[in-house]
Amino acid sequence: MKPAIFIILTFLIEVSSAQGTKSFETYFSNETLRIDFFHGGDAKTEYFSPDRIYVQGPWAGNPDRCIQDFELGSYKVEVIDIATNKVIYSKGYSTIFSEYQTTGPAIKGVFKTYHETVLIPKPHRTVLLIIKKRDRYNILNQVYRLNIDPSDYHMNNENTAGVADQKIAIVKSGDPHHCVDLVFLGEGYKQNEIEKFRSDLSYYTTLFFTLEPYKSRKGLFNITGVFSPSPESGTDEPRQGIYKKTRFSSSFNTFDLDRYCTVDDNRNIRDVAAQVPYDAILIMVNRERYGGGGIYNWQTVFNTTVKANDYVFLHEFGHAFAGLGDEYFSSEVAYEDFYTPGVEPLEANITTLPDPSDVKWKQFLSPGIQVPTEWGKHVYDSLNSKISEIRIEQAATIDQMKKSISSAAEIEQAERSYKERIDRLSKSIEDFFFNHPLRDKIGVFEGANYLSKGMYRPTLMSLMHKFTDYDVSYKPVNENAIIQSIEYYTGQ
Ligand SMILES: [Zn+2]
Repeated sequence: MKPAIFIILTFLIEVSSAQGTKSFETYFSNETLRIDFFHGGDAKTEYFSPDRIYVQGPWAGNPDRCIQDFELGSYKVEVIDIATNKVIYSKGYSTIFSEYQTTGPAIKGVFKTYHETVLIPKPHRTVLLIIKKRDRYNILNQVYRLNIDPSDYHMNNENTAGVADQKIAIVKSGDPHHCVDLVFLGEGYKQNEIEKFRSDLSYYTTLFFTLEPYKSRKGLFNITGVFSPSPESGTDEPRQGIYKKTRFSSSFNTFDLDRYCTVDDNRNIRDVAAQVPYDAILIMVNRERYGGGGIYNWQTVFNTTVKANDYVFLHEFGHAFAGLGDEYFSSEVAYEDFYTPGVEPLEANITTLPDPSDVKWKQFLSPGIQVPTEWGKHVYDSLNSKISEIRIEQAATIDQMKKSISSAAEIEQAERSYKERIDRLSKSIEDFFFNHPLRDKIGVFEGANYLSKGMYRPTLMSLMHKFTDYDVSYKPVNENAIIQSIEYYTGQ
C-alpha cells in the first residue's frame, strides 16, 4: 500500500503546483513591476504618495506561491484583480518608517518621509494595489490603494544600471522562480576597491553556507553581487561627525542608536539591484565597525572586515529574510512603545506565553523542560546592571576629568581601570552562559525583544540573541522559521 499512497501524494502535489503556475500565467507575465512611493508621517499619522512605476526584468518570486500563506511584517501588499475581485498576490514586509513611528521624535509629532518600493509580478490587466498595516493588535487595516493599468505608457522600462556597474554571479543554482535569489550590493567601495568587493562577496557567501539551514540547502540559492562604485569609501557616522558620499547613503546612528546602520537611498538601491532577479537585498558596507540592520523583506545591512561582524551579517539576515525577532534585552533601544500587552507577536522566536500549556514552539521543547524555564535570570540581570552602573560612572568621571586639569595620561589610566572592571564582569557573563546546564535545551526563557519581563525566547543563546565563538547557530526554532521562508521561495 505504501508505494501507492506515495504515488498519489506526489501526483496531488504536482497537480497543485501546476495549478499554481497556471494561475500565475492567467494573471501575470514573467516581468517585475516596481512601484515606488514616498511614505511618511509621525507616530499617529501616515501618508503614501506615488512616485514612479517601473517595468523591470524577470519575476524572481515563486509563481506557485503568489499568496503568502503565513503572516509576518508590519505591512502587507495585496493585488486584486478588478475584473474578478480576487486577491491574486500578497506579501508581508516591514519598513524603517514603522520603526520610526515608535521613536521619541515621531511620538512628539515630528514628520519624516522615506522612499519605498513594493515589487509585484506584472499583471495582464488592471489591478488594485492595496497596502495594509497592522495595528497594535496585529489586525491588518488598509492604509493605501492604487489602481494600476499595465497598459499605461507612463510605466518606465529604462535600464536603471549605473554606467560603471558590474555583475558578479557567485552561486548559480537554477531558475529564479524556484530558488532564493540573493543580491549583494557594495556600499562605500570606490572604483579602485572592486577587488575588495569581490573578496568580501566571496568571504560572506562562503560564511553563509557554513551555517544551517543554508548549508544543506545550497542548491536552492542563487547569489549575485552587483558592484556599483561610490565616490568615497566608508559610511556616515554622524556621532563622530563623519560623512561620506556613497552610492546608497548608508549611515550609522539610525534613530540615534550607536550601532544601528541602515541605508536610506531606496531609489538607487532598487536601480542597482534591478540588474538581477532578486528576493532579498544584502548591503555590504565597506567600513570596519561593528553594526548593521535588518528589516523584513526589505534590507540586510552589515559592515565588513571586523570579525565580530560575521555574526551580525547572519543575525540581520534572520530579521530580513525570516522576520525573526531580537532575543536580547537590556540593550540600548529607542523603541519606546513596541508591544501591546497581551498581544502575541508574529515573530516565530518570541512569545508573551499566553498559554503555558500550548507554547508557540511546542514541537521543539526539550523533553521535561519547565515552562517557563528557570534560568538564573537574576544572576545575569545583576551582572548586567553592574556593567551599566560602571558605564554611567565612567562617563561622568571622564567628563569631569576632561573639564578639570587632569592630564591625558591620567584620563587614559582611568579609562583603563573602568575597562578592566567591565571586562571582568563581561567574562562572568560569558562563563555564566558557557557553563549553563540548559545551554543546549529548548525551553521558554524570560527576557527577549528588548523586554526583560513578559517576553520569552526559545533558547538561552542563539544568533538572534548573543554571539559566541563556540556555539554559532540560529538554533532549531529559528532554523525552522528560515526553512519556512526558503520553502516559500523555492517550493522545497
Ligand atoms: Zn537584531
